[in-house]
Amino acid sequence: AKESSTKPSFLYDVSLSLVASREQRMELDLANAITNQEFQMALQAQYSNVEERIIGFEALIRWTNPKYSAESPLKFIQMAEHNNMIVDIGRIALHETFLIAKELEPYNVHISINVSPVQMLQAGFVNEVISIFEQYDLKPGSISLEITETFLIDSFELVINKLNIFKRHGFNIHLDDFGTGYSSLQYLRDLPINTIKIDKAFIDDVETDAHSRAIVTMISNLAKNIDLDVIAEGVETERQNNIVFKAGCNVIQGYLIGPPVPKEVAIKLIEDYNIN
Ligand code: C2E
Ligand code: CA
Ligand code: CA
Ligand code: CA
Repeated sequence: AKESSTKPSFLYDVSLSLVASREQRMELDLANAITNQEFQMALQAQYSNVEERIIGFEALIRWTNPKYSAESPLKFIQMAEHNNMIVDIGRIALHETFLIAKELEPYNVHISINVSPVQMLQAGFVNEVISIFEQYDLKPGSISLEITETFLIDSFELVINKLNIFKRHGFNIHLDDFGTGYSSLQYLRDLPINTIKIDKAFIDDVETDAHSRAIVTMISNLAKNIDLDVIAEGVETERQNNIVFKAGCNVIQGYLIGPPVPKEVAIKLIEDYNIN
């Protein structure tokens, strides 16, 4: 943005309009993607260094359209949150994830799914999720909902009420990206959560930065003291794993164990890690 301000204004205008039409094209493609069900869930393992096994997977959405499949889902998720398509996309994700959870039931792993604030605030969302859950005949405790702190700010009471209903129906709640944004200790006290996920940003620096290490230790101790589980996100190296483990965090998710993969590959991973 800084560079373009030094360009002749006609160049700036052209690039702006190109950006706009590219977004519009993407929006059209996204609407078609809903009709054509162009979404798949990739699974990323969550590994316990104490149990020495994969205890669960996070389901991460992928847009299979070759035009967009290389991009991070964050981009189209954000777009879908703005134009409310996330409600339909999220519904597809729920069906696919619960179907996968049913298929993985024999392996005794839990499955997490990300829930957007826009979905959570949608009227009828709780009942819809519960009815899909029942439709796939899943066991209580098999599904975790990953939520972020961002939407707690405006709608704390409403969200707490919804989370309590989820909890009563046997869902686990994971607080995602913890430590970024407006983390508040009040959330930890008042929210019916089971697990804190320490954001990758802290794990990235844990080898070189004593402060990041201290924060990981602090969050892990805090979690233990108030009976929450903790997962370190984005662990890529054996050294990070050792540091995080010493800091008191037993469960890791990251490229060290593996990237998000299709269901068939995830089952092979379980067989490698859990069945030998
Ligand atoms: P997130 O929920 O924080 O998911 C973790 C992201 O970190 C994933 O990116 C994962 O692939 C990436 N990651 C995990 N371990 C490592 C690592 O060791 N190194 C690196 N470099 N990256 C790692 P992904 O799949 O691109 O998803 C990005 C974000 O998109 C997610 O962040 C989540 O906010 C959103 N998202 C993904 N799937 C869904 C979905 O089904 N629904 C909603 N609402 N949001 C989703
Ligand atoms: Ca997540
Ligand atoms: Ca996260
Ligand atoms: Ca994130």
